[in-house]
Amino acid sequence: MEDSNGNVNRSCDTSGRAKRYQSVRHKLFFWNLLLQAAALWLIWSSGLTFFFRNRAVGFWPHPAGATFLYFTFFSLYFLLIELPMEFYSGFWVEKQFGLSNHRFLSWCWEEAKKRSLSFIFSLALVEALYFLLRIEPRSWWLFAWAGWIFVTVLLGKVAHIVLLPLFYKSEPLQNESLKAKLEGLFAKYRFPVRGIYRINLSKTTKKANAAFAGFGSTRRIFLADTLLEHCGEDEIASVVAHELGHAKRYHLLKGILFNSAVSFFMFYAVYAILNRWAVGFGFEGPGDLAAFPLICFVGFAGGLALLPLGNVFSRFHERQADAFALKEISAPEVFVSALRKLGETNLADFEPNPVIEFLLYSHPSLGKRIRYAEQFAR
Ligand SMILES: [Zn+2]
Repeated sequence: MEDSNGNVNRSCDTSGRAKRYQSVRHKLFFWNLLLQAAALWLIWSSGLTFFFRNRAVGFWPHPAGATFLYFTFFSLYFLLIELPMEFYSGFWVEKQFGLSNHRFLSWCWEEAKKRSLSFIFSLALVEALYFLLRIEPRSWWLFAWAGWIFVTVLLGKVAHIVLLPLFYKSEPLQNESLKAKLEGLFAKYRFPVRGIYRINLSKTTKKANAAFAGFGSTRRIFLADTLLEHCGEDEIASVVAHELGHAKRYHLLKGILFNSAVSFFMFYAVYAILNRWAVGFGFEGPGDLAAFPLICFVGFAGGLALLPLGNVFSRFHERQADAFALKEISAPEVFVSALRKLGETNLADFEPNPVIEFLLYSHPSLGKRIRYAEQFAR
């Protein structure tokens, strides 16, 4: 699901609590980056990656089998390192701030499902990557890049049909007057939607959200039960109008083009670095399984370096979607009150540190969005 419009719970200390929550989240984000970098450095410098490769090839010499075993060892290593942080950030902090509806065991179950799915999906990608490295040593990165875009688009098309039901239940929206209001909106903008669904986000969190998912024949809109509980019909319509703004301005397509351009350079960088340095770093060559941490490190560093650029791009789109919602559909005061409620429900910091906002925020801060809407009203 694409879009969280911001973010808190109404109490007398709402903004202080939101600032503390967001500050913890940002610190965790940076600690997590350090942890990932350290884990990659450790598996390499300690020689563990060579040990994993030797064991994998020893147990199962077939290239696909060795890749499977190496990636299994690699994933278990990362699981051990990441799990404590994941528990603290995904369960403990959310509980402390009253945002989680999980119990410990339900969190473990969701985490196990998420991790298993991610393992199967990543394993398929890694097998494909090493297959290409073996059969196309010169142009593997171009095929890998094309395959990556294909997979991204395919997931965008069907993830909400295939994967979402593994985590949440959704049902067609029962509220007839809200349904009529939203259908009127879609009809006015000749925007085909294959259904409006209520999704039980409250199973895991108190946060609220709404999003379009899929495109073409699979496009649906999902409204979280938490959103339906906190916001009035006009407010929900204004949130949906913002989402409609994304669609009418072709933000999904522009996002795919942006990611295609970025990933083109990333795949080329991995290719060039493997070719230039793999042997110098003590690996057998670019296709050596033991060099997998190097591939991960290039992806990690590139992704981190490009994060602010991606966020500038995303905030530009968010501003356009807000402008669409304000210009075409909503009364500004309704849109503002929806933003405030979402912000309070999700514990958003309305006025974050500008540097943090520039680096990490995919949406303009709620303070900025509200001021923009108020200016618009004048
Ligand atoms: Zn948006």
